[in-house]
Amino acid sequence: METRKNLTAEKMWEATINCDANYDGSFFYAVKTTGIFCRPSCKSKSPKSENIVFFENANDALSGGFRPCKRCRPNLQSEDYDSQKEIVEKAVNIIHQYYDEKIQLKDLAYKVGVSPFYLNRIFRTKTGITPHMYIEKIRIHKSMTLLSTTSLTSTEIAYKIGYDSLSSFYKAFKRVTNSSPKEYRLHYRK
Ligand SMILES: [Zn+2]
Repeated sequence: METRKNLTAEKMWEATINCDANYDGSFFYAVKTTGIFCRPSCKSKSPKSENIVFFENANDALSGGFRPCKRCRPNLQSEDYDSQKEIVEKAVNIIHQYYDEKIQLKDLAYKVGVSPFYLNRIFRTKTGITPHMYIEKIRIHKSMTLLSTTSLTSTEIAYKIGYDSLSSFYKAFKRVTNSSPKEYRLHYRK
């Protein structure tokens, strides 16, 4: 992690307006007009650069007379505040809600407010798999229910769970379950 010593004001400003969670813990920013200080990742409204003061730690900001933001809780230890966990949880919720649409990593990343690269990395760290693999897993589990409880064809199921072709559904099904939808249905049809 970078310390404030090798962070320029320009870099900190950039991290602030990008709500870059990579810099959480490296510095804090306070807004003179509101008297509130935040972590770089805070999603509160972007302040004007001329109103900003940077601090190396939360205590300095507190003794400078600033109050901790209620949203990003910069006065709590990083262990108590896990912005990565929050981002990944948000992404997981979005996947569960929209798995049957064409979810792209970049859209998902945009929705949770981080870069696709960063989301991929923290998602993997927290869940052990990439967002793409997670979407696939959710879709295939859904298809398993449909195969065993409905008489929808494989093609109908493929489209229903967000695939644009039967072959991509087959490939994904095989990757996750090691069998074909047809074999699965034969075994588990209720
Ligand atoms: Zn904040």
